[in-house]
Order: sequence, then C-alpha cells, then structure tokens
Amino acid sequence: MNKDIYSYSIDELQSLFGELGLPRFRAQQLFEWLHTHNAISYDQMTNLPKALRQQLSIAFPLSRTTLKEKQTSSDGTRKYLLELSDNELVESVGIPSPPPADKSVPNVSRETFLDDFMPSTPSNDMQRLTVCFSTQVGCGMGCVFCATGQEGLSRNLSAQEIVDQVVTVQQDFGQRVSNLVAMGQGEPFLNYENLMMALRRFNTDKGFQIGARHITVSTCGILQGIQQFTQEPEQFTLAVSLHSAVQVKRNYIMPALASQPLDQLRSVIEEYISKTRRRITFEYLLLQDINDTEEDLLALIEYCKGLLCHINLIPFNETGAALQGSSMDRIKVWLQRLNANNISTTLRHSKGADIAGACGQLKNVSRETF
Ligand code: SAH
Ligand code: SF4
Repeated sequence: MNKDIYSYSIDELQSLFGELGLPRFRAQQLFEWLHTHNAISYDQMTNLPKALRQQLSIAFPLSRTTLKEKQTSSDGTRKYLLELSDNELVESVGIPSPPPADKSVPNVSRETFLDDFMPSTPSNDMQRLTVCFSTQVGCGMGCVFCATGQEGLSRNLSAQEIVDQVVTVQQDFGQRVSNLVAMGQGEPFLNYENLMMALRRFNTDKGFQIGARHITVSTCGILQGIQQFTQEPEQFTLAVSLHSAVQVKRNYIMPALASQPLDQLRSVIEEYISKTRRRITFEYLLLQDINDTEEDLLALIEYCKGLLCHINLIPFNETGAALQGSSMDRIKVWLQRLNANNISTTLRHSKGADIAGACGQLKNVSRETF
C-alpha cells in the first residue's frame, strides 16, 4: 500500500507528480487542500481535474472518518461520535469557553475549566475553543473509575484519525480551535508515534497553527512515554493522572500502572521538569473514602514537595461504576489545604456532563445509547 498522502512533504509531492508527468503546480494545489484547507475528500478539491482526483483516490485513499452523531450540552459543549473506515467508533468533544478569568482572583475561590491551567490564548478577547480528542479506540488500562477503561482496547488511532477529529470539530463550530487536550479515549503515550505526528501537524499546518503550549497531553503515567516526551523539542504541556500518592491505593484504582510505581514516576517527572523547565499538572480525581482521606492528602503534599507542579482536582463524573465522588465540602477542604501548603491547586469544572461528554465518560457507544 502507498504511504499516507498526508505524510508527503511538498518536495516529495512535487517529485511524485514529476514522475507521473503532471505539472508541479498541481502538487502545490493538492498540498494546500490537504494542509491548509484540511480537506477530507478529493471531491472537495474542485480546482484539480476530475480524472486526477479519481486517480489519487485510488492510489491514496483518504481516511474515511465520518460524523455519525452529534450532541449539544446546555453549556455549549458538543460531543461527536465518529465512525472510522473499519466501522470502529470514537468520541471527541468540542468545548467553547469565554476568555480566561481574572487571574488575580485567588485560586481557591475559583473553579477552572478543562484548559484553564494552560497559558491564555494570544488575544484574550478571542473565544476559546478547546478540543478534547481521543488517541485510541477504547483503552487497555482498566482504571476502575473510567468508562473507557472498562471497555478494553480495540486499536490505536492513526495520526490522520486523530487529526480528523479536530478538523470535524473545527468545521462544525466554524471557528479556529485554540486549545487541544489529549484527554479523550485512550492512553496517548501508548500510541506515541501517531500522537506526535498529529501534534506536530496541529502545531505547524496552516489550517491549525496551535501553539505547542496550548496543546496538552494527559497520561496515566507511562514512564517511557514521559521520558520520550521530555526529549521533544516542542513546548507541549504535560498532565499526569496521579489520583493517589499511596502506592497500594493507586494499584487498586489504576491496576495496569502497578508495574510503574510512584517513586519511579516521580523520578521521570523530576527529569522532565529539570530538562524542560516546564510545570506539570497532576490530575487528581477525588473518590469518597478511597483517595480523599487525611492520609491521602498528606501523601499528596509530600509527593509534590519540591516539584514544579500544579494540581487539578477533578470531581467524579458518573460512569455507572459503583463508586462515589467526594462531597463538595471535602473537595473544598483539599483545595484549601493544598493551596495553604503552597501547592497551586484548582478545581476542574467538567463540562458536558449532561451529554456524557465529561472526563471519563467517553465510550464507544452504539447509536442506541448515544
Ligand atoms: N489516558 C489518559 C487520558 C485520557 S483520560 C489519562 O488517563 O490521563 C482523561 C482524564 O479523565 C484523566 O485524568 C482521567 O483520570 C480522567 N477521568 C477518567 N474517568 C473519570 C471520571 N469518571 N470522572 C472524572 N474524571 C475521569
Ligand atoms: Fe485509560 Fe485514561 Fe481511562 Fe485510565 S483514565 S482507563 S488510562 S483513558
């Protein structure tokens, strides 16, 4: 099979067209359709001759991601169910939000949205549009609190399938995407190469040009992935789902991570911070009596000591699992205590819960349940 047409550089496309006896400017036109206009079908490329479009569609079929369903939340969040060429299903979420709140307000008294821990967009007047995209169909990590984790892994997404999700949301909102979070289905660092290929396109392709610092990857703590990410030249943002600083408890709620222990996780994070000089975000989902006790709080404070980090506390979103989220009173105590210990901490206000589009609620549902 031929190489994916999206991965050809302009020079490679021009030499390919040269070999086929086609004019060089056609290669330029095709390149612009693919990378500036983010075309997902050859039919859209109306300035290319029909015969050439047909030839290309046979030699280089474009990925066939199609929109199957869309749901809109009362808060404006939109959830998309996309069908891939092999009929697998994947979900993505588009989250519009007002410009960042006044940062002078103390953290403890304000809620944050999914992307609030990232730097603000160049123009504060601009409405933000954050896309939460998936990197795998399902997930093999089996975290007990996560709907995706209960399904198991079907397969990795290709770089193009990752890009298609963002194109779909961008086209549906008719607005430029300003922020990206790899927090949909799947574990991004277990699909490292495709993830990085897609991130580079988001960062550099004319149709996106999203600043690296506005692109966040969330990992459950894959050590090798964090080490590789540390070496990347771009300033992508890193978030780590910690959820417990007590080893036995973490093993219970994130069973697949038991072989990647907390002390080693801390070491690779230290390396990441010292090499990149960037702050990392710890995500911490608060589950009643499981990881929200005094012992858990003290362990987290100890774990964060000396680390350039930010904590994002996450209220539990319903998944059907027999688990209970911590009460709002308990969450407020954590916010207050962590901030009092000089650990910058905010509370994530998940959007889209009424359409099961909030963190941890995505799954490969069929039409009947969507
Ligand atoms: N696999 C990656 C990214 C996808 S999950 C990771 O685990 O980080 C994105 C975030 O949603 C993670 O922080 C995850 O722990 C959180 N999450 C999972 N289930 C959740 C739930 N039921 N309620 C709230 N957050 C949840
Ligand atoms: Fe996978 Fe992340 Fe869900 Fe865990 S929380 S099962 S790693 S998607």
